[in-house]
Amino acid sequence: MIFREKQFIISKDDTEVLETLSKNVVFVFLLLLAPLQAFAAEVSGFRVWADPVKTRAVLDLDRSTSYKLFTLQNPHRVVVDLQGSSLDVPLELDKAHAGVITGVRYGQPDKNTLRVVFDLNEDVGLKSFLLDPTAQYSHRLVIDLFKKSGRQRASMIKQVTDISTPNRDVVIAIDAGHGGEDPGAIGKRRTREKDVVLRIARELKKAIDSETGMQAVLTRDGDYYIPLRGRYEKARKARADLFVSIHADAFRKRSVRGSSVFVLSARGASSEFARLLADSENASDLVGGVTLNDKGDMLASVLLDLSQSATREASNKVAADILGSLKRAGKTHKSYVGRANFMVLKSPDVPSVLVETAFISNPGEEKRLTEKEFQQRMARAITRGVRDYFYTSPPPGTWIAANRQGARHIVARGDTLGGIASRYSISLSRLRTANKLNGDIIYVGRELIIPTS
Ligand SMILES: [Zn+2]
Repeated sequence: MIFREKQFIISKDDTEVLETLSKNVVFVFLLLLAPLQAFAAEVSGFRVWADPVKTRAVLDLDRSTSYKLFTLQNPHRVVVDLQGSSLDVPLELDKAHAGVITGVRYGQPDKNTLRVVFDLNEDVGLKSFLLDPTAQYSHRLVIDLFKKSGRQRASMIKQVTDISTPNRDVVIAIDAGHGGEDPGAIGKRRTREKDVVLRIARELKKAIDSETGMQAVLTRDGDYYIPLRGRYEKARKARADLFVSIHADAFRKRSVRGSSVFVLSARGASSEFARLLADSENASDLVGGVTLNDKGDMLASVLLDLSQSATREASNKVAADILGSLKRAGKTHKSYVGRANFMVLKSPDVPSVLVETAFISNPGEEKRLTEKEFQQRMARAITRGVRDYFYTSPPPGTWIAANRQGARHIVARGDTLGGIASRYSISLSRLRTANKLNGDIIYVGRELIIPTS
């Protein structure tokens, strides 16, 4: 075990705390000394992530181990004692993501204990848990440090509009997939899904906010993980009219490319590809690190969603509009909206869609995903689809409901007049009259006026 001199600093206080632990505990240490050494857990990695309410510190371990965790004041610190553990790598603090943590020190208060001390800039509440090996990770010890200051204020996205306000904006919750411990899919050039989808999400928020009558909120605006259920809960708390989750996943065949749109299906997937995709998205919570409490809540919401047909119908409509707009903007993977059992789309009362903007596994698309021009193109295309949806089905009481002049539809390949009429729930003759059409022939790219009822 190698310690750097400057980091091997355990203050007198920290050592005293160990001494004040009960004699029984110390006795147990001694008894277990031999076996513990034989099975010493090695700490092989250390990461930190900060979100608006907490800082998450993660230690990689080569095996599960027991640990003690406590806080000290004056100055504020958190102490982690890992029993029978040693250090494989120096613990370097990534200051950009360190949140309340200002420094990390470590050492061995006794032969059999690895002590890690986090110096903090404020008092925190603690929550910790061990995770079993998942995906690229071995065992992990996760320590969440909750800010005590400003907790109420930051703990949720505040409701952006009072829904009783006449002519309110429609609210769109934008969810950048993955984040923090969960990098999402990784491209050949090491592009991480969590980074590019956050950039697209921010562009999408900008594009939506620039529309009259529309307003966007982000579920995450930084590099940290939010449990899948937490994402749509944020949308519900913001009283969102729509939830859009943004992704850029991988497929084993590198030639596969194009964007796609998915909705929830509790009963089977539209294709094997959709099923695999949903499985990998749902595994996000294991990688990102979710505690047992979060999982319990999730189960309840699964039961709740099964009878929400209105939400599902709206989800289908908006997904079709976004896909239509993506088709006009570039290559799509499939010509229809995909369905699978995506956990993140299980909001019982907020229409929800998941957009795979491109395949990070496709070398050309991986490159494009990192380019601002492509990120903005995706954002504009999604915004157009969202706008099409709200102009045809505006929630009552919104600015759009009061001000739309009749929506417009740009004819896409495969559109029929009858199909368009039924999609906007109007009669074929009204659609013909509004557009001065005699027959059924329409041309791709023509803009049709959709009469309002
Ligand atoms: Zn994803």
